[in-house]
Amino acid sequence: MKYYNFTPSCASKYVSVTKMLNYNEAKYSSCDVCGADNLVDWSSIKPVFECETVTSHRTLPDMILYGGRIIHSFNVWYVVSAAFRDFCEKNFVKGVLFSDVVLVSRRRNKLDSIPERYYLMQITGRAQLDYAKMGVECSVCQKCCHYVYSSEFFPLYDPKGIFPTLLDESTWDGTDVFNHGDCTEVFMEKVCSSGLKGIDFLPYESKFDTASNKRYIRV
Ligand SMILES: [Zn+2]
Repeated sequence: MKYYNFTPSCASKYVSVTKMLNYNEAKYSSCDVCGADNLVDWSSIKPVFECETVTSHRTLPDMILYGGRIIHSFNVWYVVSAAFRDFCEKNFVKGVLFSDVVLVSRRRNKLDSIPERYYLMQITGRAQLDYAKMGVECSVCQKCCHYVYSSEFFPLYDPKGIFPTLLDESTWDGTDVFNHGDCTEVFMEKVCSSGLKGIDFLPYESKFDTASNKRYIRV
């Protein structure tokens, strides 16, 4: 099977989320499987995200780029539109979990709430990569999705890149969306014909390749 990886578009025509305003009110804990620390439990809070100002030239995409302080949680997460959530429900997409968020933007130093409904989407699907074949000693924590390395080699931060990225299909839980924005080809094709906007897809094998070699499919 073919797989893809998706991320929010960073095109300037879309507004991005600049910060989470109430992260101090969230509950944090550690993963008891791999020891990852300081992970937000999203069920402990309704996040309030501040966005850039929406104008006729800078609009809200269906998946919003987050440019605030890094917030680790038990699952990889994105801020997505009601249309994205409806798409997932209509297509019975497995491996995602939605909860409410509030979007606000600042005007003359006053916060206005944004009327469009958005959701926090957590990715709960899991699969291991075949790191041994990739020459990396690493695994994905089955509970909190953090990478656990047993060697000095970190593909995410290696400027030389690693190609190809290999999925260990025998460990894939059969979800449509898994790990860090990874997905099936069927999911990618359905998103591409759905009219959803602001999402970049990358062939899975290019995930840890150098930036110049990456060829995106953009909607
Ligand atoms: Zn963990």
